[in-house]
Amino acid sequence: MESKTKQLATFVILPLSILVAVVFVANVKASSEHLLEVDFLDVGQGDSIFIQTYQGTQIVIDGGPSDAVLSELGKQMPFWDRSIDLLILTHPDADHSSGFIDILKRYKVKTMMLTKVTAPTATYQEFLKLLDEEGSEKIYAQTGQRVWLDNSTVFDVYYPPAGVEDQGLSTNNTGIVGKLTFGQTKILFTADIDRIVEDTIRGQFDLDADILKVGHHGSKYSSSKEFIEAVSPKIGVIEVGKDNTYGHPTEEALGNLAASHVEVLRTDLDGTVEFVSDGYNLSLIR
Ligand SMILES: [Zn+2]
Repeated sequence: MESKTKQLATFVILPLSILVAVVFVANVKASSEHLLEVDFLDVGQGDSIFIQTYQGTQIVIDGGPSDAVLSELGKQMPFWDRSIDLLILTHPDADHSSGFIDILKRYKVKTMMLTKVTAPTATYQEFLKLLDEEGSEKIYAQTGQRVWLDNSTVFDVYYPPAGVEDQGLSTNNTGIVGKLTFGQTKILFTADIDRIVEDTIRGQFDLDADILKVGHHGSKYSSSKEFIEAVSPKIGVIEVGKDNTYGHPTEEALGNLAASHVEVLRTDLDGTVEFVSDGYNLSLIR
């Protein structure tokens, strides 16, 4: 891909009736290819997804469990590129947050989206300290937010609602769920939510998507038949470590995906899974 430079020039929050819109306006030397790239990184047992919009905005959803994310990002980003526009931490569990420590040490991070749910672990506290030192702008995710990643790519936040940190939920059920839309391409990211949250958002939003980041590494507590039917993805991607001790992905989740004729790709078997889209056609490139 042709090299490109960009600067996050403006950061605007617009009230849109009940929606809150967050707009990234990037000054971009556009790539000649004009493709959205979405890579589900093989970071072992955990989630990390690298996204580059067709105008070059770079986003990482979750950092995985370790510094494995750095070598994976090194394969996707030019060696000289040491800035990331937006990190999204879905929830504080170590298999999603620990790699962000390494990312914050190596990259300049302009904006961080997270929730107000915290963890008492030393690792999470180190992450928060580094984030403060970095001085990144913080956005707290909330149902109804629309984040403009460039002038035609949006990330709509479906979960969690305001005040989720006070509701006594498991951290898994506080995770950020959102859909990325670029033209006709739609990708739903479901963190580690259980069925209880799947049921909540199923009644509220149009979940239809081409790709589903399968919830909670294929846990049996996620991916209900009803939820899979509502999303009706062509492809489900499971981010999971080889021989993990959790038994992920489970027969229950795989069975529900198979029943809906969803093609399943797994980072433990397939390695990093990469897609590109021109807004019309979505292609698996590895
Ligand atoms: Zn997880």
